[in-house]
Amino acid sequence: MEFFIKRFMSPDWQIPENIEFLSPEEMRTRLLEAHEFSTRVNILSDLSLKIDEARSREEIIRVIREDIKRLIDGECALVNLLSHSKSHYVISTLSPLMDAIELNHRNFSVDVGMPGWAIQNNAAIVVDIDSAPAFHPALEGKLKDLGIRSLMIVPVQTHEQILGALFFGSSKPNAFLDPDLWLAQLLSLQIGIALRHTGLLERAQKRVAQIGLVNEVAGKLTSTLDIDELLTSASEAIQKNFQYFDVTIFLINRDENDLVLTAHCGSYIDFLPHGYRQKIGQGIVGWVAEHSQYVLANDVSLDSRYLAYQYHNTNSELALPIMIGNEVVGVLNVEDTKLYAFDETDVVVLRTLCDQIGSAIRNAKLFDQIKKSNQRLVELDRLKTDFVGIVSHDFRTPLSTIMLAAKSLLRREISSDRLREYLNIIVDQASKLSKLAEDTLSIAKIESGQLNYQFKVANVESIIQEAVSMVKISARHTFVSTVDVNHSYVRGDQSKLRQVLQNLISNAVKYSPGGGQISVTVGPHEGSPEEVLFSVCDEGLGIPEEYVGRLFQKYTRVDSGEAGKIKGSGLGLWICREIIKAHGGRIWVESEVGKGSAFKFTVKKGN
Ligand code: ADP
Repeated sequence: MEFFIKRFMSPDWQIPENIEFLSPEEMRTRLLEAHEFSTRVNILSDLSLKIDEARSREEIIRVIREDIKRLIDGECALVNLLSHSKSHYVISTLSPLMDAIELNHRNFSVDVGMPGWAIQNNAAIVVDIDSAPAFHPALEGKLKDLGIRSLMIVPVQTHEQILGALFFGSSKPNAFLDPDLWLAQLLSLQIGIALRHTGLLERAQKRVAQIGLVNEVAGKLTSTLDIDELLTSASEAIQKNFQYFDVTIFLINRDENDLVLTAHCGSYIDFLPHGYRQKIGQGIVGWVAEHSQYVLANDVSLDSRYLAYQYHNTNSELALPIMIGNEVVGVLNVEDTKLYAFDETDVVVLRTLCDQIGSAIRNAKLFDQIKKSNQRLVELDRLKTDFVGIVSHDFRTPLSTIMLAAKSLLRREISSDRLREYLNIIVDQASKLSKLAEDTLSIAKIESGQLNYQFKVANVESIIQEAVSMVKISARHTFVSTVDVNHSYVRGDQSKLRQVLQNLISNAVKYSPGGGQISVTVGPHEGSPEEVLFSVCDEGLGIPEEYVGRLFQKYTRVDSGEAGKIKGSGLGLWICREIIKAHGGRIWVESEVGKGSAFKFTVKKGN
């Protein structure tokens, strides 16, 4: 201003000779134009302040949208921002007409459309729509159908990099003039600077949130030893702190070779239920479980592993393995509708969290194991106490019977029939006692690993005879035994095998209170020519299916129905299993409730 004043005041100053004087009419038009331009500069200055104050990309777009029509006239205004990979630009509409034709949030490759052209050439252009150099039917074509005739496109950039392009359209021919171009360029410069600032701010905020998150999740993970609960609170904390669109945690189920959704928080929660299963190897999550490596897919449409679901509008997915030592036990998966939603910082932070989740799962599993073995110990303790009670009762009963019979023998003059009867009672009860003593001793020896075996060739017939002679078979039962001639010798410890058979035959008697046939059959074991198969069958109570799998475990007894009323220790079958195991054989039962049972075992052939 000082300069002009000086020039006007200078005594040497003269009106230049070739100066052009305007008519009053022209002067008026120019003044109006100048006024209009200065009004628009004021609008731009206000808008710039608002853009400057905006805290996020979305807020910048919102404030531009409010004022753009007053700054640059036209039916169409769009801001197109480059994706992280710079291969696409994403449209944000700035005018209602553009919302109506559903251009908002659409992606276009930078190779197509006028925004792509402006980005690639880093040049502004004012052009008639028919002469647009990168006319694309889905973009300019749609606008042309709406009657748009002139276009103005200006790159959005900072001094370091190009970020996108502003795009304007008007139904008037040659609608955009130099002042429009200047204003659009100034605006794009403002937008460029603001985007850079908000980008830095967003990243800084995200880092701070991430540090807070790691602490928060770590706190949650140590606050419980229940796996479901700890994974649920971890997924909630991750989703909320990062504002991820969707967070899921899968655990591997090796038996089924699949992954089970164990915790879920986010927008797909209604679509993927708790317990949802995905095969290992299937989709990005399955791939991570199979290869123990993370996958960062910032544009899932380019990743062949991605499994699309009908309800999904996922564009980015980040999945990381949860490990215990070298073994993958689960997968943490985050998804977002935005392209390029995740960066390397997300990977680093989520990896740290996966390590913490892994050790929390390990702790919870260890705790679970300790809890279970504690329960088992308490149960064993109870069973042992019961056992002591049963055994001392079982010892006392035959002893008092023997005492009674012996006293009767001493006291009276008795007939030879009576004598035989009392002696039978004594022999019978004494053999019961001896079996009990033998079993009790075997238990102690098996448990301390001191049961010694004398493996020899043994005759099957004599094993059966010995066993039967030690069991009192009641008058209600009939006993038969059949031995195949080619399988009449086995390799084993005769007295231990007798103990097994004795146990099985006395059980057959005991658990068929109604009587019936008891048979011992010895013959070939189909498919295993080196083995001999023993079967002890009865027509008694049978065994309910739920007990069959654990009948050979220590202290297992059928405690329901008729069988529940019969006394026993639940140790005989366990002893049988241990003895047969030491012989390299196998023992099992086939049974039907109400029909009877067949206990079978195998031993090596003797010749
Ligand atoms: P105990 O007979 O002393 O209880 P065992 O270990 O010999 O112990 O048998 C375990 C359980 O298996 C028995 O309590 C009984 O419920 C069931 N069981 C064994 N043999 C038979 C059988 N032949 N028929 C039906 N149930 C049987």
